[in-house]
Order: sequence, then structure tokens, then C-alpha cells
Amino acid sequence: MSSKLTPTLRIGQGYDSHEFKPGIPLIIGGVKLAHDKGLGGHSDGDVLLHAITDALLGAIAGPDIGSLFPPSDPQWKGADSAVFLREALKRVRVAGYELVNLDSTLILAAPKIGPHAGAIRKRVAELCAVPENCVGVKAKTPEGTGTENAAIAHVTVLLQRG
Ligand SMILES: [Zn+2]
Repeated sequence: MSSKLTPTLRIGQGYDSHEFKPGIPLIIGGVKLAHDKGLGGHSDGDVLLHAITDALLGAIAGPDIGSLFPPSDPQWKGADSAVFLREALKRVRVAGYELVNLDSTLILAAPKIGPHAGAIRKRVAELCAVPENCVGVKAKTPEGTGTENAAIAHVTVLLQRG
């Protein structure tokens, strides 16, 4: 990742999903939410930070999160997903870019994200070092998709050459 990439702007898209499991904390966008279930799987299961990480890596045509941090590697079990996001942001800088804004859509049946959207936007903005008004957090319920026991995140990022 030493050579500088050329376009002035680059767009990135990220997607992730995790299954709800009882008895573990629910962390979305680096914020712990009160709920009777959390998200299992890779690391702390932070579906939003994983999708942001992949969107950033995709924008610079880098390797994806699973290649950099294999779920099979025990060192990432229960890991703080901010570690993955920081690595992606570092790679963005090395490639000669900075994050302009990001937008996200969360799809989950519960808990309601609306009351926590402000806290999630604030934390994601801190982690990404962008103003809060450059972080979009929207939430939908999984109408007709049959994914009631999962949390899904879609993320788009815009980078500009720094
Ligand atoms: Zn994930």
C-alpha cells in the first residue's frame, strides 16, 4: 500500500451481517446498547464498524476485513472492532486519501436504533475523525426479509485525495 492512488474522489461500499445470540453484549457503532442479546461471530460483532471498515478498504481497492483479520484467528475473538476500523483508516491515509463522509443503513428488528442514533453517530465520528454531521445512521426493520434474528449494516463512504 505504498503507491498513491490517482482519482480525486473514491467511493466505497460495505456490507455486514451478524446473528443475535443470547447472553453477550450488543455493540453497534462502538456503542453498547441495552438488549437481551448481542451479535455473535467475528470479534465483538460490531456489524456497523465492520461494514465501515470494509467500505473504507473497498474505496482504496484494498483487501477486505476478513482477509486482514481472519475470523478463524483466535486473537480477534471478542476484539474491539475499533482496531479494524483504525487499520482501514490508516490504509486510507497511506493511499493518500481522507474520509469526507459516510452513510449507513442498519436493518434489525430490535432494539430500536432511533433513540441511540445520536450516540452512534457521535462515536463513529470520533473514531473516524470526521464531524458528526458527516456520519449518517439510518435504521429499518427487516420487513419481509426473514432476517429478524440478524443485524445487517450497509455503508457507503466517500474519500477525497488529501
Ligand atoms: Zn462482521
